[in-house]
Amino acid sequence: MKIRNIHTVVLGSGASGLCAAVRLNAEGVDDVAIVTEGLDKGVSINTGSDKQTYYKLGLCGATPDSPRALAETYLSAGGTDGDLALVEASTSTRAFFHLVDLGVPFPCDAYGQYAGYKTDHDPAKRATSCGPYTSREMCRALIQDVKRRKVDVYEGETVVKLLTRDIDVRNGVPYKRIVGLISITSDGEPIVYHVKNVVFAVGGPGGLYKTSVYPEVHTGAIGLALEVGAITKGLSESQFGLASFTDVTSRSIRVKNVSRPKEFRWNVSGTFMQVVPKFVSTDCDGSNEREFLWDYFDEPGDLFGRVFLKGYQWPFDARKAIDGSSFIDLCVFYETAICKRRVFLDYRENPARFSFDALPDEAREYLTKSGALLESPFERLYKMNPGSIELYRDWGIDLATEPLEIGVCAQHNNGGLDVDVWWRSTNIEGLYPIGEVAGTHGVARPGGSALNAGQVGAFRAAQRIAREYVGGRRVGERSLKESVDSRAESFKDINAYVGAVAELIALTASSTSRGVDWRAEREELRTRMSECAGVFRSSVNLSRAVSEAREQYRRLTRLEKRDGLIFDDDFRFDLDAIETLRNVQLCVAQIAYLDSVYAVVLSKVGSRGSSLATSSDGTVISTKFPEDWRIQDEDANFRDKAFCSYFSNLDDEIVTESFWRSVRPIPEPDEWFENVWRDYRDGKIFE
Ligand SMILES: Cc1cc2nc3c(=O)[nH]c(=O)nc-3n(C[C@H](O)[C@H](O)[C@H](O)COP(=O)(O)OP(=O)(O)OC[C@H]3O[C@@H](n4cnc5c(N)ncnc54)[C@H](O)[C@@H]3O)c2cc1C
Repeated sequence: MKIRNIHTVVLGSGASGLCAAVRLNAEGVDDVAIVTEGLDKGVSINTGSDKQTYYKLGLCGATPDSPRALAETYLSAGGTDGDLALVEASTSTRAFFHLVDLGVPFPCDAYGQYAGYKTDHDPAKRATSCGPYTSREMCRALIQDVKRRKVDVYEGETVVKLLTRDIDVRNGVPYKRIVGLISITSDGEPIVYHVKNVVFAVGGPGGLYKTSVYPEVHTGAIGLALEVGAITKGLSESQFGLASFTDVTSRSIRVKNVSRPKEFRWNVSGTFMQVVPKFVSTDCDGSNEREFLWDYFDEPGDLFGRVFLKGYQWPFDARKAIDGSSFIDLCVFYETAICKRRVFLDYRENPARFSFDALPDEAREYLTKSGALLESPFERLYKMNPGSIELYRDWGIDLATEPLEIGVCAQHNNGGLDVDVWWRSTNIEGLYPIGEVAGTHGVARPGGSALNAGQVGAFRAAQRIAREYVGGRRVGERSLKESVDSRAESFKDINAYVGAVAELIALTASSTSRGVDWRAEREELRTRMSECAGVFRSSVNLSRAVSEAREQYRRLTRLEKRDGLIFDDDFRFDLDAIETLRNVQLCVAQIAYLDSVYAVVLSKVGSRGSSLATSSDGTVISTKFPEDWRIQDEDANFRDKAFCSYFSNLDDEIVTESFWRSVRPIPEPDEWFENVWRDYRDGKIFE
């Protein structure tokens, strides 16, 4: 069996993983490699939006800003730890200018000022963008730097297992140390990595949802860390919103160097809504077209105004569900999920009763200032944002001639693995979750803060790992002692590694002999998640879902007799086996997510962030919706708490331990320069 000894493996090559590899190398950690499904995989390089946003400290004009003010914005919706918010705020400028220096074309004026605009949940114009593909631009610049620095990249590998050693139990919580991971190459060869650290940059849980704007190619792998008992935080807090999905299998595509999906998915935010398109729904076969939004509105100005506002209020927001712009999402959700119809945005024609005079002042002024008082939504879109039309054309979709199918899609998870201020897992030593898989956001987050958090996590993890690797000396004076030690240890662990690979072989062989169809299993899992843990959360549905998910996990992991299994040097997993193992980690993740959502609903936290908790005595949203669409108000007492969980047993009984804890406040450290300098010199900042 092939074993690679590497001090630090960066698992994943999205914007956060790539940045971690660059920063580790820059900090002097030369025994580092990226292991990834592919440099063209993941969310960062395969997605974007109307104007994909990067959030950072304000850097323009006379508007004052400070790390603390930014941290307070992060904390405003609740569920966020103040120390993490302060680090994300204070490191945001460093991470941003790192990208600028690598050539990411964030716009500045003639005086070097990086002007900003206001994004969702942002009071202070801190957002910036380099167009629809900000995260792709970031990845491409970082890939160049990874190559320039000659960091090893193992592409085409799927990691299917993390290997740990027990340390001890503290306050009832098991603590472990990471020792390695098992990966399978694209031709099925198992490879063991023996490591000191894993920077875990596997992205969000895209593979869990059926109705999703995560790129099809991205499943995520948080389940691997959950399997070894890593503590999570805030898993119940996700972000949903209106997005398009179009089958592009038979379309001619102009985009190069990205994974070719079956379905092209894109957020319909910003100008896609500000031009006030026509919303129509049809039966599944495309018949019976009608403008369903008129079922809910009497006043044209009210309907057009709410559609317009969705432009810069993109994520579904519980506070805007009844009389705000998120009501539009609910109408779309009702049409698709309950009436089982398809919903489209049509840019070719205005909605019925449309006139510029009927628009609310804000919308009319916006269109007037943009020179877009034009005949059709398509013409308005062309005038205000021609790039958005070209973007769809790149994927063979012509908004001038066809409507665009949409739904209320899962887009981002604000929670994830629990980390400390150096982005270390709080109970698995050597595991550094960064990017979307790290649970650093709370109930809601400003648009663009996900990309900032990923870069900041990368900087912090790299700095902390380098501190140990370099052994407190300056870069250039380091010793390789640590990597030599780890090589010696690998021989001790080899039997454990062989055993772990044999387990995986037994599991996939058993699955094949029982005729388990991984595609059907994936479909079942995704449907359950979209139905029970999307925008609407009901305790009845969740109670059913948590037991069904457990049943599925038992089915996926049931082992039969191992006799007759052949495991030699030439052993290869086939593609179905890799997908079967992926299903196992997705199912583990689903149980953790559903358990969290269910527990939060039972705690009566109510409707907040991007989801609504239903309750028989709750507020009626609209009499046009089903009788049980009554929503519970938010209990604001939970804003200063975070919900955490971990698996204490996955072998026979699946046991989730969970607890609410208080969020940590924004620290008020001693800012006197001489004292900061002394602590820095003495390495106290790492304690
Ligand atoms: C449509 C859309 C629009 C968005 N818009 C914005 C925005 O405007 N602003 C913002 O801040 N955020 C936005 N986000 C969120 C943001 O893009 C993501 O949170 C971020 O890109 C995630 O980066 P990452 O590095 O954590 O993970 P990813 O970019 O998803 O990378 C994960 C990596 O891990 C690898 N990987 C995963 N599992 C395995 C495995 N088992 N073995 C090997 N490799 C593995 C993948 O191949 C990939 O390389 C948006 C998201 C979507 C879907």
